[in-house]
Amino acid sequence: MNSWQDEVEDKYDAFLLDPGMGPMTYLTSDGRVLEDLRGWDGDEIVEVGGLHAHSALIAGARKTGIVELLELIPQPPPGSSVCSTCDGKRIAEPAPGFGIELPCNECDARGWIDAG
Ligand SMILES: [Zn+2]
Repeated sequence: MNSWQDEVEDKYDAFLLDPGMGPMTYLTSDGRVLEDLRGWDGDEIVEVGGLHAHSALIAGARKTGIVELLELIPQPPPGSSVCSTCDGKRIAEPAPGFGIELPCNECDARGWIDAG
């Protein structure tokens, strides 16, 4: 695992955001989120967006304390509305009483919903 981490960090100028439960997830110096699917459900490194990327940034900010990571999540455009599922917090319980807050599926963990 460690050699994969070194390889990705060197090759993509990236750092490990989330060693978590899923694929190892990295943030590159130019703001892209990469998932290393090796040892998971594939054999390649892919760039991800949307819920995957935002979830990784949220997890990374929690683990590292670098709150600036959250600034990479798109800001609400004019006319958008606050997500009613997570109340703009980007994380929510999947069901009332679940006990754990997960990245919000409803808004792709952005905290806002497009108008219309
Ligand atoms: Zn939401």
